[in-house]
Amino acid sequence: MPAPDRDLPPRDAASRIVETLRRAGHTAYFAGGCVRDELLGRTPDDYDVATDATPERVMTLFPRSGEVGKSFGVVLVQAPGSRHVVEVATFRSDGQYTDSRRPDSVRFSTPEEDAARRDFTVNALFLDPITGNILDFVGGQADLAARLLRAVGRPEARLAEDHLRALRAVRLAAKLAFTIEPATAHAIRTHAKDLRGVSRERVGDEIERMLTNPARARAAALLRDLNLEPPVLDWTGRQASGPSLAALPPHASYIAALAAWALDLGLEPGDAPREALVTSWRQSLCLSNEHRDGLAAVLAGVEVLRGPWPAAGVAAQKRLAAKREFETILTVLYTLDLPRAESTRSRVRELALTPSGIAPPPFLTGDDLISLGLKPGPAFRRILDAVYDAQLEDRVQTFEQARELAGSLSVKAG
Ligand code: ATP
Ligand code: MG
Repeated sequence: MPAPDRDLPPRDAASRIVETLRRAGHTAYFAGGCVRDELLGRTPDDYDVATDATPERVMTLFPRSGEVGKSFGVVLVQAPGSRHVVEVATFRSDGQYTDSRRPDSVRFSTPEEDAARRDFTVNALFLDPITGNILDFVGGQADLAARLLRAVGRPEARLAEDHLRALRAVRLAAKLAFTIEPATAHAIRTHAKDLRGVSRERVGDEIERMLTNPARARAAALLRDLNLEPPVLDWTGRQASGPSLAALPPHASYIAALAAWALDLGLEPGDAPREALVTSWRQSLCLSNEHRDGLAAVLAGVEVLRGPWPAAGVAAQKRLAAKREFETILTVLYTLDLPRAESTRSRVRELALTPSGIAPPPFLTGDDLISLGLKPGPAFRRILDAVYDAQLEDRVQTFEQARELAGSLSVKAG
């Protein structure tokens, strides 16, 4: 028995959809980023199919399908015998843009017109997955060979129509190590300030994709070079660039990359500038609570490790080392001060070998203080912290000793 093909690789799933459309009398190709990536020898993230079949027709041909954005003519199809979902889009040409972001209307059309509405020439190629033939109406193959990112049509008009294309250009040029063709780059610079009209959510999404890619330093340099930094960040850095982003490990997290970027732009030490930056970036990049809190904790942690940490007491050292973000803090510190990062790492190893370790469960809780006859109040937290510090420093090693210390502290406090 042949194995059931529920796990058809994505490319085969998409090819099968093309074959089905062809058998039903339609034209169908692979389109967009997947063609570009295949021709570059990269593995596409996903495969998109473009066809002359209308969305209704596509949904009749594939029972397991559903429409997304009716007006845009895109249907999500689950290939027969596969888990993979493929976007099948009807060839279309986009109407006028009045909001600089989405066309007001679309009209179903030909492959040639469909190529013309795409953003960059290397994104506007069609591939016949069965014969390997390429359809190229816009010189995309020549630009691929020259590693050039060039707007389809008049760069000025295409950038004015959809300002997000400026960020797509930076993200793709950085990721693929392409040059942005001069007229396209000029149009991006000209329209840089118009980016303020794009929703912060979409800006943030593009920036997250840039900063989580190993080519993040190239992306940051392009943003600067194309005057996109002010409209993206809505915050003015002090310096052109620092070493941190470029020195991060390839798979560093978004939080690590945000912190490295802030430091590269010359964030000054101190609570106030740090808080101002975090508040501002939260807005401009539409950061989630998790990313905002992570960024704040990493920037604060890096400052402590670069400053007072080596001379701090054992309890203070352990409290920082126990933070959820500590590994990220160290990752960023490595990009700025290697000797300090290594000495921190070895100090943490020593702390882990102390009897209490880095983050022991506390001997005492608020309930224990209540059973000692203490009333919840401002002194409460201070006593718990002092007892936990003593535990971290191995000055108290048992529950009994902890209770005694709490008792004597409460007498003092009272
Ligand atoms: P990635 O590798 O990041 O997925 P991609 O080129 O596949 O890059 P998608 O966002 O998946 O990007 O878009 C698929 C295709 O749709 C693009 O290759 C391009 O042809 C077209 N496209 C996407 N966004 C735009 C846009 N803002 N303007 C014009 N065409 C676009
Ligand atoms: Mg894609």
